[in-house]
Amino acid sequence: MLTQIITRAIRRYLVGSRQEFIFKPIDDIKLPSIEKIDMYIHIPFCKNKCPYCPYNKIMYDKKLTELYLKAILTEIEQYYNRLGRIKITSIYIGGGTPTNLIDELGVILERIRDRFIITGNICIETTPSDLNKETVSKLVSYGINLVSLGVQSFNNEYLQLIGRNYKASILYPVIELLSSSNFESINIDLMFALPGQTVEEVILDLKKAISSGVNQITLYPLFTFPYSTVGKYLNLKRVKMPNIITRKSMYYAIHDFCIDNGFKRVSVWGFNRGEFPRYSSVTRDNYIGFGAGAGSHISKTFYLNTFSVKEYIKNCFNEKLPVALKMDFTDSMTRYYWLYWRFYDTYIPKGQLFELFGKNDKNIQLLLWLINILKLGEEDEENVFLSKKGAFWLHLIQNYFVLNYIDKIWSVAMKKPWPDEIRI
Ligand code: SF4
Repeated sequence: MLTQIITRAIRRYLVGSRQEFIFKPIDDIKLPSIEKIDMYIHIPFCKNKCPYCPYNKIMYDKKLTELYLKAILTEIEQYYNRLGRIKITSIYIGGGTPTNLIDELGVILERIRDRFIITGNICIETTPSDLNKETVSKLVSYGINLVSLGVQSFNNEYLQLIGRNYKASILYPVIELLSSSNFESINIDLMFALPGQTVEEVILDLKKAISSGVNQITLYPLFTFPYSTVGKYLNLKRVKMPNIITRKSMYYAIHDFCIDNGFKRVSVWGFNRGEFPRYSSVTRDNYIGFGAGAGSHISKTFYLNTFSVKEYIKNCFNEKLPVALKMDFTDSMTRYYWLYWRFYDTYIPKGQLFELFGKNDKNIQLLLWLINILKLGEEDEENVFLSKKGAFWLHLIQNYFVLNYIDKIWSVAMKKPWPDEIRI
């Protein structure tokens, strides 16, 4: 309740509107003419349901996956008919577990290549239990060049606690297999701030990740997931999460360890060896999302597909776009959306900042003053860089702020395939 009041007050102050954020039902979408855009593909099928997971997913079902493939191809066609052969500046494939549909991914990417011009990286999330010589060589043959492996932990006790369906012993051979294939960058996802976990255990996981030779490591704390999902999970397990002070010391220890070992911070949670391309799942600005529950941000409108896999398929087969909700961004919201992702990157290009907000914008002046006075970051001629302290605290505030909204929208969208208006 208190968080809601605070977030609403911050929003009204920043966005400068008494109007609520409103997601409205929609029949069809009219797209502006664009030359290029990023792309997201959502594969919602999992063979394992991790208890803390808030993402839109369902259990793997062979028959349903066949229909889902046809539906995605129809959705791609729908966008092609509206936008023409535009440039696709990057593709990100997430889920669910994309590698559960390994052959279907080849068909989807081939169709995208037929209809659009791919000019950037193709990234995919993978899970250790799905990877073997055959699946990895298929990913390479599809032109996927950046890969992320959802390791989560090298400790069997924690893998079991978070309900992962593999043992730590398979992780090194899988990482070796990826490293010996032709990917330009390999990222490992690790989780920290797990119930009962100590700083020493987090660093031990990190040492193992670094010694495996991967070029990027992304460490997510459990608390970045929507509260209700984590809350249910913790009740289920009857365990407590580390408090905020412990989480902060974990983050600081991770930060220092990565920097001392030659890694560079590339986002709040991500550290890269430097000379390799950055694997990034979320920092895209304008993108089209395909699949059940996928979001799209096109020009100044955010669209959300129906979360129901069956309704998604039905709608695509009726040659309609499966968009359930849309929200039009005001200019002010668009600016803060941009700033949100720069905080996530942990640096803000000053030229773009002043161009978007104006050099004398009172909120930006206040923000820069606070960053400076509270030692949350420092500036040079071109950028404002967040310090370790700034990266942790600013993202924490931002995270609570945004998760309030995501949590509300997702929980409604998961219950109702075609929700009524959602006001937040
Ligand atoms: S964490 Fe990944 S594998 Fe586990 S249920 Fe969620 S999407 Fe599926």
